[in-house]
Amino acid sequence: MQISDTLKRLLILLADGKFHSGTELAAALGVSRSAIWKQLQALNELDAELIAVSGKGYKLPRAMQMLDAAAIVGRLSQPARQWLAGLEIHDVIASTSGYLQERAAAGAASGLVCAAEYQTAGKGRRGRAWVSPFGHNLYLSLLWRYQDSPAALAGLSLALGVAVIRALKAFGIDEVGLKWPNDIYWRQRKLAGILVEVSGENGGPCHAVVGLGVNFYLSEQQGQNIGQPYADIQSILGESVHLRRNELLGLLLNQLLPVVASYQAGSLAGYLDEWRQYDCVAGRQVQVQVGETRHSGILHGINDEGLLLLRHEDGRLQTFASGEVSLRTA
Ligand code: ATP
Repeated sequence: MQISDTLKRLLILLADGKFHSGTELAAALGVSRSAIWKQLQALNELDAELIAVSGKGYKLPRAMQMLDAAAIVGRLSQPARQWLAGLEIHDVIASTSGYLQERAAAGAASGLVCAAEYQTAGKGRRGRAWVSPFGHNLYLSLLWRYQDSPAALAGLSLALGVAVIRALKAFGIDEVGLKWPNDIYWRQRKLAGILVEVSGENGGPCHAVVGLGVNFYLSEQQGQNIGQPYADIQSILGESVHLRRNELLGLLLNQLLPVVASYQAGSLAGYLDEWRQYDCVAGRQVQVQVGETRHSGILHGINDEGLLLLRHEDGRLQTFASGEVSLRTA
């Protein structure tokens, strides 16, 4: 769904993060003040925080940069540009991954990317929600098709974690790490999450929809729905980072597209060293939850198949596959 043209133009005016009076906004958009008020109400419904001060007018709490397909594509490397089949930007969507699943069922090609300003039902693993307020974060998904069976894609989500770390580092963010299987952490707080959904026949073909959420800014209220420590890029790099949202999306696609495009059985081996280097939970006391059962122990990294290794008190090593477990650091 796209927001109305008037609201879009209003957002472009408010994007500087400065005060604008109702009269000024109405004049700039050629509409009545009550029409402006109606649009501001619509903005509230998107969870956007709007500041209204009598005598001064309205402002967004901070500057924002709306997602812009041309600006993103302009930043892509030559290979990424070749692999990109299309980049759709939605103002409001239930879930970028859900949308690409529908597009995949309708025959969409490898390399279709969907990003959104706002997700009403952002998805995490095992039916969990991804908190996705309007305008200040990244929510994107991409579709890739494979001739292989789904089993060949084991480890893809680990490789994608490495790709996201590379992009975040290129953006200037240090101290980022990976929590198995594919959460991205900054100083032990969750900064980004990856969701890989693979569908297909046992003997192939299959397709993967890769979803990624990266936090630029979450208000305290929005963060209350997360239920675990989280981080956002604004608190790492400062407020001016909001004007670099298209840049990060471009950097992410430059890293993600080559990984999905070249992935096949055995590819994980090429990412293991880097993954282990960024493992930020190895050596920690954790609880691994499989269904209703909890296993306590100390994390011992991953094996060469990308399975999680947990050392029990009695020294026994147990392996876990990503589909089935949830990991909580004690
Ligand atoms: P966990 O982080 O507990 O291992 P998971 O990896 O199984 O969870 P994900 O699919 O990565 O789950 O993401 C869903 C979880 O991430 C939610 O249950 C919530 O705790 C957290 N979360 C939701 N939205 C955000 C967000 N915007 N930023 C950081 N964390 C979030």
